[in-house]
Amino acid sequence: MRPILYRRLGLFELWVLSDGELWLDGGSMFGIVPRPLWAKLATPDEQNRIRLGLNPLLLRIGERYVLIETGIDRKPGEKFRQLYGLSPTHPLLAQLRLLGVEPEDISLVVHTHLHFDHCGLNTCWAEGRLVPTFPKARHVVQKQELHDALHPHERSRASYRVENVEPLAEQGRFELVEGEAELLPGLWVRPAPGHNLGMQVVELESEGQRLAYTADLVALRCQTPLLYIPAFDLYPMTSLESRKRFYSRWLEGDFLLCYAHEPGHPLGRLAQDERGYTAVIEPLENAEV
Ligand SMILES: [Zn+2]
Repeated sequence: MRPILYRRLGLFELWVLSDGELWLDGGSMFGIVPRPLWAKLATPDEQNRIRLGLNPLLLRIGERYVLIETGIDRKPGEKFRQLYGLSPTHPLLAQLRLLGVEPEDISLVVHTHLHFDHCGLNTCWAEGRLVPTFPKARHVVQKQELHDALHPHERSRASYRVENVEPLAEQGRFELVEGEAELLPGLWVRPAPGHNLGMQVVELESEGQRLAYTADLVALRCQTPLLYIPAFDLYPMTSLESRKRFYSRWLEGDFLLCYAHEPGHPLGRLAQDERGYTAVIEPLENAEV
């Protein structure tokens, strides 16, 4: 598993965790980009899949622990794990433990969206029942996204798993936002539709430093060019508009970016030249554990 990475951002402390890796169809990840181009950026395996990371972010803000995303669902079992190249257990739980953070220490979970590869540890099995993994956390999500997760259609059904959503909804653990919201001082969520309607990115700002958690708006650093929009996106032209809006904001505000699915080095910064947008790697320290 990738080591835990650590960085301070003004008054925030942040740890980029890993919930292991996920293998997805390479063509689907790059949309209309032909294979000879994308295969230079991400090497496909014999099933044409490419390796993706799963990078939940742990924040300490004062005495609070906040978790951005909860990793990928492993509850469906062996066949599902093989399909996506998943390890049987959650590196995310092991890494929290290494940091001395217990599930009950998490007071807030922020969801970019509720696809199964972003909220899989919302629930776990205990004595034959699905229970919240983070028993004291409120779970923030866009109202639209909770609705869509509970009412999927033919095109979105494979992306949602009710086991990750319904038990929390029944217990009233979701806190719904509509549009932009400041959840704690300097911790913002902002809608970024396109991948689906209800996705949001997370932004942090403290003492003049800024970081954005990209969700699936730009999941991998090598997907930075505006054209590199996945076929998974339900509304690709809306993705393009969202990308243009956030790229110009992130470039102007000198945001650090934390990519939700980058399998290598998870932080970067945008740059722009005559060919368009590019991204550069931002070094990060291994956390002391
Ligand atoms: Zn994803």
